[in-house]
Amino acid sequence: MEHYFISAMFEEYDVIVVGAGHAGCEAAHAAATMGSKVLLVTMNMMTIAQMSCNPAMGGIAKGQIIREIDALGGVSGIVSDKSMIQFRMLNKSKGPAMWSPRTQNDRMLFSQYWREALEANPNIDMWQDVVNKIIVKDNKVIGVITNIGIEIKGRSVVLTNGTFLNGLIHIGEKKFGGGRTAENASTGLTEQLVELGFESGRMKTGTPPRIDGRTINYNIIEEQKGDDSPGQFSFLNPIKLPKQRSCYITYTNLDVHKTLETGFEKSPMFTGRIKGVGPRYCPSIEDKINRFSDRERHQIFVEPEGWNTVEVYVNGFSTSLPEDVQLKALKQIQGFKNVKMFRPGYAIEYDYFPPTQLNHSLETKLIDGLYFAGQINGTTGYEEAGSQGLMAGINASRKINDLDPLILKRSEAYIGVLIDDLITKGTDEPYRMFTSRAEYRILLRQDNADLRLTKLGYEIGLASKERFNNVSDKNSEIKKLFNDLKHKKLIPIIINDNLKINGSSPIKEKTSIYQLLKRPEIDIEKLIEIDESLKNYLSKYSKEIIEQAEINTIYESYIEKEQKLVEKVEHLENYKIRDDFDYSKIKALSSEAIEKLMNIKPKTIGQATRISGVSPADISVIMVYLKR
Ligand SMILES: Cc1cc2nc3c(=O)[nH]c(=O)nc-3n(C[C@H](O)[C@H](O)[C@H](O)COP(=O)(O)OP(=O)(O)OC[C@H]3O[C@@H](n4cnc5c(N)ncnc54)[C@H](O)[C@@H]3O)c2cc1C
Repeated sequence: MEHYFISAMFEEYDVIVVGAGHAGCEAAHAAATMGSKVLLVTMNMMTIAQMSCNPAMGGIAKGQIIREIDALGGVSGIVSDKSMIQFRMLNKSKGPAMWSPRTQNDRMLFSQYWREALEANPNIDMWQDVVNKIIVKDNKVIGVITNIGIEIKGRSVVLTNGTFLNGLIHIGEKKFGGGRTAENASTGLTEQLVELGFESGRMKTGTPPRIDGRTINYNIIEEQKGDDSPGQFSFLNPIKLPKQRSCYITYTNLDVHKTLETGFEKSPMFTGRIKGVGPRYCPSIEDKINRFSDRERHQIFVEPEGWNTVEVYVNGFSTSLPEDVQLKALKQIQGFKNVKMFRPGYAIEYDYFPPTQLNHSLETKLIDGLYFAGQINGTTGYEEAGSQGLMAGINASRKINDLDPLILKRSEAYIGVLIDDLITKGTDEPYRMFTSRAEYRILLRQDNADLRLTKLGYEIGLASKERFNNVSDKNSEIKKLFNDLKHKKLIPIIINDNLKINGSSPIKEKTSIYQLLKRPEIDIEKLIEIDESLKNYLSKYSKEIIEQAEINTIYESYIEKEQKLVEKVEHLENYKIRDDFDYSKIKALSSEAIEKLMNIKPKTIGQATRISGVSPADISVIMVYLKR
């Protein structure tokens, strides 16, 4: 086919983003807001920011990521808030490091608000087409070629193809090409990238059936309401949800398991037809009943797909068994006796590129100006994808302006942990974020994401002045209140009775609120109940400011301890290692360490310590060598 630059139609773009999923949308918005001229090429403009799987954002560790995206000036938090139908703060009974916001979303509105956000940005052009080749000259990307034979010039390209690269969908014994149900797969790109020297792999994921809510008996299943006082993701313009839709909980049972087992011989999972590696921690229902055969039931969350639809997402019932087996098993679940199915569940296999082929900026090591973000890097989840897209968009834009990449440290953000894990350790199964992956959890809380990151977002030209001002004011108010809590004292006669009621020992002399809050059985709510003047004093502060001052008081010693740890480890990040450093010359290194180090090319000693297979002894040897 003849290719031509149709320059009359397309100018040369600073950044071409391929794919308008969660990663692509954040990438396009970030780069464009920072002043780059962006073209967002996507296969189908009706599926912008489509939620391929569950209609929900956030949750444990993922909620922290959304708040970080928002703090930096990204859009996922705002769109999630606007389209939410339910809000819950998970893990509220645990310490604040574990609190994780989660929204149930209206799938259609989520997509619509994202599209509106992109259309509102004058630096973003859109083009509906399939990119099946990138154009590379002298190891530098200079544009893309689309399915209809159009060449478009770009100074950088961000690939965010999601589950679409050679996507193969399985339902029982049936299999067909597709990037998602009812959408085509993307072919050609993987093959070209492999020819260029990239390594690719195969992963898989799955989704549950969607059912008709009119056929569910909600009276006999457990209702799960949203929080009484719903919060939101975005630090900007808080939205207070006036009403919420409930989710419901039901369970599988032994009859359901027996029915599902009748489909095992046709299961693509068990017959070996699926070759890709799936997410261990997000198993299909057939996987669960196979692996945990002693369990008599598994929990099912019944999640509405929006405000004005009867469609329901059956969370916990991901499956690729034959559709008739799916329906028969569903009907045996409590409350689902008469259920009708809208869409069957399915599994999908797709290509990904091991992320050790990337730099921290998400630019590929092989091709200058080419960035990968999202599921293409072996991750799973909207939040993981969105955050990578944001960073790839930021860094593509910075690169064409000759600026150093923005790299978030592990001690600054979950996003920093995510990217460092990916490019340093790689992943051989779909990577999702957990709080346990972060070593500085008490610093990386969802509630302080703006205090950690908004200044950075503002300095790079992404977060707005309004955000920056909000955070500066918030910071000053928190400091003032924290200080006041040290000086404001309560007298024994007023509070001793109440302390006793709360199982706390009485005070003998005037004691500061700061000191009282250090007692685990006491919190600010309890003190307000006792002391009217304190209640009056605190009424000038918002809930968020009081919460921050309280967290800073209660967790002061833990926060200080983690900060010291960061400082201790930070010096290792200052030992820079050149890309061309020849590890094979160091005889004392193990051969495994040499291979891993040569492959990953860590930029610092700190990064080298995190490579699996590189021991503390190897690190000492490298340090001695570097010092020489
Ligand atoms: C069946 C299924 C089940 C899933 N289950 C889960 C789950 O249980 N838990 C979980 O956390 N995540 C799950 N996911 C993953 C989640 O959907 C993804 O992690 C997330 O959507 C990835 O975002 P992304 O932006 O990288 O890609 P996607 O959201 O997949 O978006 C990719 C975009 O790129 C476009 N595109 C692709 N190729 C081209 C091309 N060549 N040219 C132009 N446009 C192109 C597509 O049209 C699409 O708009 C599932 C996904 C699927 C499909």
